[in-house]
Amino acid sequence: MLRDDAHLETRAVHSGMEGLRENGQHTPPIDLSTTFPLPDVEHGGDAYEVLAGGGDLQPGHSAVYQRLWQPGVARFEDGLAALEGADGAVAFASGMAALTAVLLATVTAGRPHIVALRPLYGGTDHVLETGLLGTTVTWVDADGVAGAIRPDTGLVILETPANPTLELTDIRRVVEDAAGVPVLVDNTFATPVLQRPLELGATIVLHSATKYLGGHGDVMGGVIATNREWVTRLRQVRALTGALLHPLAAYLLHRGLRTLPVRVRAQQRTAGELAARLCEHPAAVRVLYPGLAGQDPAGLIGTQCEGAGALIALDLGSYDAAVRFTEACELVTHAVSLGGIDSLVQHPASLTHRPVAAEARPGAGIVRISVGLEHVDDLAADLFGALDAALLATPASTAGSRSA
Ligand SMILES: *Cc1c(COP(=O)(O)O)cnc(C)c1O
Repeated sequence: MLRDDAHLETRAVHSGMEGLRENGQHTPPIDLSTTFPLPDVEHGGDAYEVLAGGGDLQPGHSAVYQRLWQPGVARFEDGLAALEGADGAVAFASGMAALTAVLLATVTAGRPHIVALRPLYGGTDHVLETGLLGTTVTWVDADGVAGAIRPDTGLVILETPANPTLELTDIRRVVEDAAGVPVLVDNTFATPVLQRPLELGATIVLHSATKYLGGHGDVMGGVIATNREWVTRLRQVRALTGALLHPLAAYLLHRGLRTLPVRVRAQQRTAGELAARLCEHPAAVRVLYPGLAGQDPAGLIGTQCEGAGALIALDLGSYDAAVRFTEACELVTHAVSLGGIDSLVQHPASLTHRPVAAEARPGAGIVRISVGLEHVDDLAADLFGALDAALLATPASTAGSRSA
């Protein structure tokens, strides 16, 4: 049995496992049922009403239908909520589906104006910029939040560390400036191992579970950790719009939580060492990593987050150098995504941040590296070889750039 004062590592291993031992089980069963037997007509109706309204499955009730409740998904949600220190969590088919549900709930509450701090994940930027879901957006930096809040502002959105520049934003300060408007923090990069935004006053935490929570590059999902009221609203949106997490994906994500603290800390350790070594190479014009000297001016590491994380951005000075670098990596795979056990590299300006307005798009010379669990010396050897290749680029040239 898990005690209330259990540490994060213990909660990661044991949360969401309630009742298994009593059932003679050691790991959560994967139940693929799309429908669940109803004991009688009256109980069926009662259960439907509770679940469609966003309530919890009641003891003795049927789960009714997978779009309303899924036991394995609920276990993963409990596990994540325990790590974020949330009342509850609501899981979706992807990070973007989770964001969509929050935006729809905000619009239907009659407050469609969003204040968003750039830079954000490219997809988040895109869905806000297009207004696809009926939101309007005011783009700000951390200094602009207070002045941008309006009576119809329903949400403030930020990401720290930011994507892909890895700048840190002071969550407590944004919460203060939001003056009661709920603040959503995309915690995909930091994970609850390094940062728990709800403890700092945020109302909603969003994860692309596809990244660190899953951690092995083989499952997509999204999850929101939040208070009771938002859990209810988001479950209603999910039940009606159907962007569900599949039970098998829920199983894999729940398993991912169990090793999350060891993975994130090991990956962060390697990233810190790599970032320092990469500074030594002449092709690295700038190494962007909040753990390096001078890159955390507000002193947020140690007060807001436990560390700088396991992503590194490199400014190689030109599109040409970025292309040469990316294509010369051999051990590190050239692929989008992040947070898995194997290291990945990508060029944000031409890939994930392609839809972002030109003035807000990351520099054409920037590449982003997601540091995995390989040995630091092997990663350093690969990246130094790629940096040597980048040196062959025409200095400061942006020739051939499709996006800069
Ligand atoms: C990947 C990502 C998303 C979107 O999540 P999907 O699971 O790809 O839909 C949102 N925010 C951040 C920071 C991400 O890295």
